[in-house]
Amino acid sequence: MATTKVKAKKYHFKAEVKQLLDILVHSLYTSKEIFLRELISNSSDALDKLRFESNKGTELIDNDLPLEIRINFDEKKNILTIEDTGIGMTKDELITNIGTIAKSGSEEFLKQLAESKQGVDNIIGKFGVGFYSVFMVAKEVIIKTKSFKQDEPASKWHSDGLGDYDISEPDEDLKRGTTIEIHLKDDAKEFIEKYRLESTIKKYSNFIQFPILLEKEKVNTVSAIWREPKSSVTKEQYTEFYKYLSFDSEEPLEIIHTSVDAPIQFGALLFIPQKSNEWFKYNREDYGLDLYVKRVLIQHKNKDLLPEYLSFIVGVVDSEDLPLNISRETLQEDIIFNKISSSITSQVLSNLQKIAKDDKEQYVKFWKEHGQIFKLGYMDFTNADKYKSLLRFNSSISKNAYELISLEEYVERMKKDQKEIYYALGPSRDALALDPHLEIFKSKGIEVLYLYDPVDEFVINALGKYKDFDFKSVENADPNKLEKMESVEEKKEKTEKLSSDDQLHFDSLLAKMKEILGNKVEDVKESNRLTDSPSCIVAKEEGMSATMQKMLKLANQNIDEQKKIFEVNKDHKLIRNLLSVFKKSTDNEYIKNVTEQLFESALLLEGTLDDPHKLVNRLNKMLEESSEWYVEVKKY
Ligand code: ADP
Ligand code: MG
Repeated sequence: MATTKVKAKKYHFKAEVKQLLDILVHSLYTSKEIFLRELISNSSDALDKLRFESNKGTELIDNDLPLEIRINFDEKKNILTIEDTGIGMTKDELITNIGTIAKSGSEEFLKQLAESKQGVDNIIGKFGVGFYSVFMVAKEVIIKTKSFKQDEPASKWHSDGLGDYDISEPDEDLKRGTTIEIHLKDDAKEFIEKYRLESTIKKYSNFIQFPILLEKEKVNTVSAIWREPKSSVTKEQYTEFYKYLSFDSEEPLEIIHTSVDAPIQFGALLFIPQKSNEWFKYNREDYGLDLYVKRVLIQHKNKDLLPEYLSFIVGVVDSEDLPLNISRETLQEDIIFNKISSSITSQVLSNLQKIAKDDKEQYVKFWKEHGQIFKLGYMDFTNADKYKSLLRFNSSISKNAYELISLEEYVERMKKDQKEIYYALGPSRDALALDPHLEIFKSKGIEVLYLYDPVDEFVINALGKYKDFDFKSVENADPNKLEKMESVEEKKEKTEKLSSDDQLHFDSLLAKMKEILGNKVEDVKESNRLTDSPSCIVAKEEGMSATMQKMLKLANQNIDEQKKIFEVNKDHKLIRNLLSVFKKSTDNEYIKNVTEQLFESALLLEGTLDDPHKLVNRLNKMLEESSEWYVEVKKY
């Protein structure tokens, strides 16, 4: 180790850093070259921050230094150095920034990394741990750094990446900025080859907005491609830029490149990724657009340029009309900023509308990946019309679970006197196909939107209406309104009509059933929505749907227990048999058992049966009895 003026002070890495280093050093499946991307990106960040301070009017040391990144190597000593003239670090900053992992998500990152087969290269930069990737190629790293702040001494950091690092004063005088000196491992000597370095820089860092000088030669493009006219940018350039921004290895699904001159000048280059960002789950803060003012980066990942429901979009926005010294804190209140933000939002939505219209397949791809987040836009009242036009659903008329329709298509297909848009929430298409509430809709040929995600019901309730039509859950639908509409299928071999005498008995049976169910129901009624099922539970028209109640319960919300209405299908064989029993013996135990069984079965279907024990017990008893009849009467 180098001799130092003052004895070096030893520090230990935090436990999670050690764990991370351990994985990095031992991972074989990783493309090692990404360490270069990470270090250059840190240098670029440091230069951006410096330029930002300078625009604010902060006094800097070494003000005359050019803003650049220099990469040099020493073939004899196997040392690679990456040097920048950025903001540098004070000693305290060195300890907090390099010795610990500050950002959230690092724990999850470690877990994912340990399990992941794809390697660290796609993800490391997203978790604020990029610096450590240098230990994939280094047996020893020395950082020499001097902060831009006045009167801060320079520091030297040294580590072999095993467990400790030490900090001392550097032997020589330093200028502002940071130098990373990498003593390459024997198996990483390729990184002192100029060609290898150059191609790696071009691959990952071509769009860095500061010159990268490799042995004094500039290797990157340093052009703001978002500022160039659309016609002069090739698809390859867009893709390359997108990959640089997003760390994605695939090309983008869509590119939105726009430029507006009046009333406010700004340009935007935005991308919709093919895949939704799975790291969102662990690092929900990892989104936003890069905001530039006159080509100077003001904020990386700004979260206010687009509403959260469009947070899957990656890209940059650049404006001539914002002041360069604007502070990140006051951005949100800036009128011009807000105008830019609403203009971009509206343009993104218009672009999505255009895709939906011109290229349905592409839109379906978009919806499958990003629909989940997009749906959360129901609060964007300014763009409500566009938002609604972009929603997609599966429906009872769709051929399979994958086909999607828009609300507009639904409305076009509505029945003559239909005034409401019907929806049903269920776990799957198969489950919904068996839902008794849907029987009347089937017989009338009325389309029902199928919602598989409880969030969908929230969205729909929040919207309230589409055009003039209210959304209505099939559980709450008024069968009298439906009954009036024309049927498409004739009622199946109509059961004989009840005589007026039997109708009276039936009414008494309903009263009996109500007595049996007691305060569990508000009423027991004859149903005119059922064809194949003997009974079902419905909500009052203005009441909450069962699914909504269930969700509120899960969220521990106190809700009044909603009284249920139990509907009985007079034409069903089981009910007719029950009526025969009832006519002969009104208090027969069998009536009580069947009533309770039907009611609990309906609760079970709804998902609101709290305790299945009674149901299963009763069912077993009934099966036992029926097995005896099977043997005795049917003589099997
Ligand atoms: P991230 O860049 O995502 O924050 P890194 O592990 O790459 O995570 O870097 C950690 C921190 O170390 C940076 O946020 C920065 O504060 C500091 N840092 C790293 N490299 C430099 C540099 N060249 N100049 C100034 N600060 C740096
Ligand atoms: Mg970094």
